[in-house]
Amino acid sequence: MLILMRAQATRPEIDAVLDHVRQHGYQPIELPGAERLAIGVLGSNPIGVRDHVVGLPGVVDAIPVSKPYKQVGREWQPERTVVDVSGVRFGGTEFSVIAGPCAVEDEAQLTSTARAVRAAGAVMLRGGAYKPRTNPYSFRGLGAAGLELLVRAREETGLPVVTEVLTPADVELVADRADMLQVGTRNAQNFSLLEAVGQAGRPVMLKRGLSNTVEEWLLSAEYVVSQGNRDVVLCERGVRTFETATRNTLDLSAVPLVRSLSHLPIVVDPSHATGHRHLVAPMSLAALASGADGLMVEVHPNPDEALSDGPQSLTFEQFGELMDELRRVAEALHRSLS
Ligand code: PEP
Ligand code: MN
Repeated sequence: MLILMRAQATRPEIDAVLDHVRQHGYQPIELPGAERLAIGVLGSNPIGVRDHVVGLPGVVDAIPVSKPYKQVGREWQPERTVVDVSGVRFGGTEFSVIAGPCAVEDEAQLTSTARAVRAAGAVMLRGGAYKPRTNPYSFRGLGAAGLELLVRAREETGLPVVTEVLTPADVELVADRADMLQVGTRNAQNFSLLEAVGQAGRPVMLKRGLSNTVEEWLLSAEYVVSQGNRDVVLCERGVRTFETATRNTLDLSAVPLVRSLSHLPIVVDPSHATGHRHLVAPMSLAALASGADGLMVEVHPNPDEALSDGPQSLTFEQFGELMDELRRVAEALHRSLS
């Protein structure tokens, strides 16, 4: 429920409402906004508090939030959230491109990729140290050693780093090394992991679950935000459908849909969405045109020898061409790349 206060409500009036809400056993959240002052009330049936607060000095109305997710919805916060990841912004006017290998393989592979993507215009580096693999005998990442290579690549290039965390037990270590924590598609409804990253004090990149509806995805984001971490960037990476010609089916309509339902930034991962290198550039341009706040793209020095996701990884040259095309489309859309 949202308690709407007069814009000129005094501090004692606001405090009186907060006290009232607490007396009813609910935790109030103050929501100062550009246009209004609101107090959010979360819980199983906060509407019971309504009769007690409407009529208090300074209160205009108390209205239920219609959606099952609360804090991540536009009703709760009409203004878009801007997530700042060590200086890289998501959710403002800029379009921010994250690039890097699927998995961190060794120092030469990572640093050469980091240098190449930075030279082409990427503003953040990706690379998995802990890899969720369908087959347990596939390459599952270098683990903690991979995190150290990411730290070194950041030192060398200045690019902030995003990397996946697979279990609550690893959250502290990964949060200590990375600028942003990635929750992958397979863990999108691992609620204990979502709560753990919500407490980690780092921005979170939340991929859409393999078969998750947009509502389920936003409820996963709500788990993170409910722990006090408001810095969540959503990532559309395709969903599973009957189609086997592509690895997944990119749901681009999710971009404008999520933007209308939620204030959180949204980026697109055209690599996992398609599974094929030649589809990455067209879907990247479409993502920009659809209103996404950025991209996450897989790039490898020699995709044919990649230890994971080679078929969908761009070469350095292809990534450079993609960045040039993105700049041209951004200009036509009156947007700019950050
Ligand atoms: C990844 O980005 O490395 C990854 C494993 O992606 P997803 O969780 O979307 O499959
Ligand atoms: Mn991958």
